Amino acid sequence: MIPDSHAHLDLIEEETGTVVASALKAGVSPIITIAIDIPSSIAAINLAGTYDGVYCSVGIHPNDTGGVTPEDFDRLEELALSSRRVVAIGETGLDYYRDRSPAESQKQAFRAQAALAKRLGKPLVIHDREAHDDALELLTAEVHGEVPVIMHCFSGGREVLDECVRRGYYFAFAGPVTFKNSHVTREMASLVPSDRILAETDSPFLSPDPFRGKPNLPERVTLVAKAIAGARGISFEEMESRLAENTARVFGVPVEGA
Ligand SMILES: [Zn+2]
Ligand SMILES: [Zn+2]
Repeated sequence: MIPDSHAHLDLIEEETGTVVASALKAGVSPIITIAIDIPSSIAAINLAGTYDGVYCSVGIHPNDTGGVTPEDFDRLEELALSSRRVVAIGETGLDYYRDRSPAESQKQAFRAQAALAKRLGKPLVIHDREAHDDALELLTAEVHGEVPVIMHCFSGGREVLDECVRRGYYFAFAGPVTFKNSHVTREMASLVPSDRILAETDSPFLSPDPFRGKPNLPERVTLVAKAIAGARGISFEEMESRLAENTARVFGVPVEGA
């Protein structure tokens, strides 16, 4: 099975049961549904409790940190402790591409979620968009190997990649790795150590080719996996084994074939 390590099931328009069944039919399971704020953390826990093969994170996305209070992080902790299906904290990080939230509130939310991940011993899912230097600096200050770090939808170049490899981080690649012009992303996907690579859809966003621009679905992680396998010059089957093993290890979830 190919796992989708990062989707937003609560943001997909189609009914979740249909989405999960269709993914399973395509050879995709489990799906980790990633939260972006408190309501979506609650929704993610409900979905993970309802559907087999669905696990979730709780967290606050950097674009949604505007009105966040310290009580919100207490609430996140309560939520994380409320269900064994919660397998990660985030997505947190920095987004300087969209300036929907001030950088300082993004950083505060980052620190609070890093602390939460460490208290709970869960991996931290990082969103880093046009903020590589600050994101690495914050990670240097807040995380010292206590918990796994996942660079979701990795968009850095060689320097960032090498630094993250040194630190033992995980790298998740999404739809852009399939785009015709994404030579650098494919090159990066070919350089990640085989025990640190993950695939994701970030659905409903970032549809891979040939669905670019359309709402995305977890089943299309197979296209992402195929593109990564192509970049690395390995078979789809070998890619599947690596993705299964890595997803099982980092999130502590069962994956068929791991
Ligand atoms: Zn993201
Ligand atoms: Zn996301």
